[in-house]
Amino acid sequence: LIQLAIPLNFIGFVYREIRQGLTDIEQMFDLLEVEQEVQDKPGAVELAVADGAISFKDVHFAYDPARPILKGISFEVPAGKTVAVVGPSGAGKSTLSRLLYRFYDVQEGAITIDGQDVRDVTQKSLRKVIGMVPQDTVLFNDTIAYNIRYGRPGASDEEVTAAAEAAQIGTFIRHLPDGFKAMVGERGLKLSGGEKQRVAIARTILKSPPILILDEATSALDTRTEQEIQAALDVVSKNRTTLVIAHRLSTVISADEIIVLKDGVIAERGTHGELMQRDDGLYASMWNRQREAVQAEERLKQVRESD
Ligand code: ATP
Repeated sequence: LIQLAIPLNFIGFVYREIRQGLTDIEQMFDLLEVEQEVQDKPGAVELAVADGAISFKDVHFAYDPARPILKGISFEVPAGKTVAVVGPSGAGKSTLSRLLYRFYDVQEGAITIDGQDVRDVTQKSLRKVIGMVPQDTVLFNDTIAYNIRYGRPGASDEEVTAAAEAAQIGTFIRHLPDGFKAMVGERGLKLSGGEKQRVAIARTILKSPPILILDEATSALDTRTEQEIQAALDVVSKNRTTLVIAHRLSTVISADEIIVLKDGVIAERGTHGELMQRDDGLYASMWNRQREAVQAEERLKQVRESD
């Protein structure tokens, strides 16, 4: 029994890791021959995307029936617009993106893209139109060019370079001794979280999907990296329907609408300006706290530098 338990545990571990990473999932499932939780229903059709408008309608979801995570969430991401979801850790923000990508099915309500329920279409066609920039990108033990080209295997060298430039990672790559041929991944160059995220953005620029899910990393970035990532995101999200699981003020400020999730419901919604006007609001207090933390850190840095 012990012998059996170890591999099962290991598969469980890999499975969870993939769920978190959200990339290369189909390939990994093929490798592991693990059955996917969500299956295409008989007669599932191809998703036909005209504008890529997303709608969450009264969505309920729980991983464990005893602990509901989403309790009736309704919002739209109009075609070409950006909606940012914020809220305390564990509020269910990433769960929304997992449901849209259909790693799980909603238990009540529906998610539609251009009016088509995601449960009625093939997963392949759904995932083809969605570009996912996860919190932590899984890189292959291969060249940086291979890792970017993965977004569209037929892309030319020029297209790979242009995508890297648009994702603000071109200069970094050109300064590597082997440039685009540099090996990355576990057995190669280890990239920082911000660099990996820009590789994921370059991949997505090549894939050029009509819909984008961006799950921002929670880790703090220095101001310059944050600006570079923001510039890359501006390129990739332009004219694309974008759902951002946001942790950084820079992304949220420019969103067309901000959804504040708390205790399974939408606690507040509006633009950054509208939400900041509510002095006692959850959003306003969240950002005021974050701003104070950043200011305190900057003061500490100045003190250290003057020593
Ligand atoms: P964070 O800001 O910390 O990333 P989040 O708002 O994105 O948090 P989710 O990842 O959506 O939160 O998780 C919502 C809740 O569901 C959490 O309490 C989490 O522990 C739980 N949860 C997430 N994934 C699973 C899973 N596969 N099985 C069981 N519970 C899960």
